[in-house]
Amino acid sequence: MKHEARAAVRPRRWFAGGLLALLLATCLAVAAPAPAPSFELIALGVQGGLQDGDLSAWLARAPGDSRYIAMDAGTLLPGLQRSYERGAFAHLPIPADTTLTPAGYLLREAIAGYFVSHPHLDHVAGLLIAATDDSRKPIYGLASTLDGLARDYFNWNAWPNFADRGAPPALGQYRLAAQPPGQWFAIEGTSLRGLLLPLQHDRMESSMLLLRAGDAYLAYFGDTGADAVQHGTRLAEAWRTLAPLVRQGALKGIVIETSYPDDVADDKLYGHLTPRWLASELHALAAQAGGNAALRGLPVVIGHIKPSLQAGRDARRLIESQLQAGNDLQVRYLLPRQGQRIEL
Ligand SMILES: [Zn+2]
Repeated sequence: MKHEARAAVRPRRWFAGGLLALLLATCLAVAAPAPAPSFELIALGVQGGLQDGDLSAWLARAPGDSRYIAMDAGTLLPGLQRSYERGAFAHLPIPADTTLTPAGYLLREAIAGYFVSHPHLDHVAGLLIAATDDSRKPIYGLASTLDGLARDYFNWNAWPNFADRGAPPALGQYRLAAQPPGQWFAIEGTSLRGLLLPLQHDRMESSMLLLRAGDAYLAYFGDTGADAVQHGTRLAEAWRTLAPLVRQGALKGIVIETSYPDDVADDKLYGHLTPRWLASELHALAAQAGGNAALRGLPVVIGHIKPSLQAGRDARRLIESQLQAGNDLQVRYLLPRQGQRIEL
């Protein structure tokens, strides 16, 4: 009898103990800090044309580094200024003894170098205009991009030659550091490494920069059309490079354009993406990365939204709602504003 009673008590104790452990585990899980971010991204400019103070430009940094790589530079100083005012550089204290303005310090000291995805004016205007007061640094890009910069801007005609080659005298402020596609290179002044892949952007060669910080990766795409519209395979090739990283959980995010809403006809896209075409391309990545669940939760940062001059038409809102409506892959779309800081 006694034995039976004890046996009856024990499961209840077990149950209570288990409940306590579960509760404790839940509390610990809630209290546990989120995994440390692998990249910091700051939006210096997010629009795809028209708005000359907010054109494609991004900063990326690995935590622990004191300097950024600038990825495109359509808008530079106004983007640094706005980002500073919004507190995006709160984690990068500006030395008290600098004689420079905050934006001046950020331009000259905190940007280690530039990556230019292609030489279209809305991706380089900020770099060109600020070149007179910038410090010496490298510009990374495909050879075709850097040849375009040297030929079309740094020629003593459109602008003085701040590059290290081309129309004499070459002032040598910017070292045009051409990189062959598919090969890792060190990004000077940072702990980052980079790898470029070509993209097709209407009739122009554009490019993607894959950043690596330790075992983590971030893919930044310059302007690009969908393969089906471009009649090419360059995005498919980019997805082939990224798919294994998705499978390993090593790809921390994608920064990519969505220039136009879905009602713009394919023959009026001029080498750009719409929400529908981006979703279709992300499906191509998912297919290579193990299926539709492979991209769930992956941050996809959207830039290069082309504003509309039609009264009452908000391209950004349209694009955002169309992206969400077609988001069966459940990626995490982010549409930052100028000056916003994102941890990935
Ligand atoms: Zn372009």
